[in-house]
Amino acid sequence: MAKTQNAASPVTAYVALGANLGDRAANLHRALELLEQSPGIEVIRASTFIENPAVGGPANSPAFLNGAAEISTTLRPRTLLDRLLEIEKKLGRVRSEKWSPRTIDLDLLLYGSQIIDEPGLTVPHPLMHERRFVLEPLSEIVPNVVHPIFNRTITDLLKSL
Ligand code: AMP
Repeated sequence: MAKTQNAASPVTAYVALGANLGDRAANLHRALELLEQSPGIEVIRASTFIENPAVGGPANSPAFLNGAAEISTTLRPRTLLDRLLEIEKKLGRVRSEKWSPRTIDLDLLLYGSQIIDEPGLTVPHPLMHERRFVLEPLSEIVPNVVHPIFNRTITDLLKSL
């Protein structure tokens, strides 16, 4: 008897969003819409947007508006990352100087409790635990989610910054 191929079971993942060019809030809303419209992605909830000074970029970079979203996805991590990069492209991000201003930046923070270290894909995102602009909005929606490498909650990581 032929076996039916079940769809992959959904995984809860977290995405960081940031924008420091154009109508920043509109860019973040549009990115959430495009995520929601993607097959295999459901946006469960999103944080409020928080303003943060630009870190590490060229001098006088405009401030960022940052947020975080919880999604449920049947996409594999690599496919999900590709989708995030497509959305960045669609919203007009031009990759230039590292950490330069951008209409939208989407990072894959956590994918279930998986630890992935492949060329071009590192999960948990390697800088998430040191970035207030990531931990603050993320802790607003999921304070008790545990970082699978440090075995500490988001709130705990935020407190120790
Ligand atoms: P940036 O948008 O400047 O943060 O860099 C994005 C690049 O980092 C992409 O081309 C990805 O291949 C790579 N990358 C590796 N791990 C991640 C991740 N967890 N989230 C987003 N980008 C990642």
